[in-house]
Amino acid sequence: MGDPVVVAPINFRFECQLGCVNCCARPGDVFLTEEDRGRIASHLDLTAAQFTERYCAPEDARGLRLSNPGKTTCHFLGPSGCRIHDVKPLQCRTFPFWPETVSTRKAWKGLSGYCPGVGVGQILPIEAVRAEAQRCADAFPEPG
Ligand code: SF4
Ligand code: SF4
Repeated sequence: MGDPVVVAPINFRFECQLGCVNCCARPGDVFLTEEDRGRIASHLDLTAAQFTERYCAPEDARGLRLSNPGKTTCHFLGPSGCRIHDVKPLQCRTFPFWPETVSTRKAWKGLSGYCPGVGVGQILPIEAVRAEAQRCADAFPEPG
């Protein structure tokens, strides 16, 4: 389990915007849980080993993650968005409510530089924000 997350005492508003793929198009690692690997592999009719060989970076101390396909930022980013949306990794599911993005007002506001969904819609229950961030922290605890 990860440490209890810190959530800034601010009004969180967020609605993902249709047609936007900005977060997927940004460079960065997509880390996977074992559960992600099994679910996505099964969706693609692959064994976990086949999925790992085709789509994952060599496993090292940083943990299991997708490899960089080169032509795009993610193997699964298509013209209309994520091609594995229904089974996408937990890291992608919990965005933008990651421990590091909900912990301070500055970090949350900083997301609006590329995520047009931040600041849009109803105020979200703080406990729902906390629960998403905690899911992420529990899945990817800080080493040490
Ligand atoms: S950047 Fe924000 S609005 Fe755009 S797809 Fe990602 S979460 Fe949705
Ligand atoms: S797996 Fe899907 S949601 Fe996650 S970064 Fe790739 S395209 Fe985006």
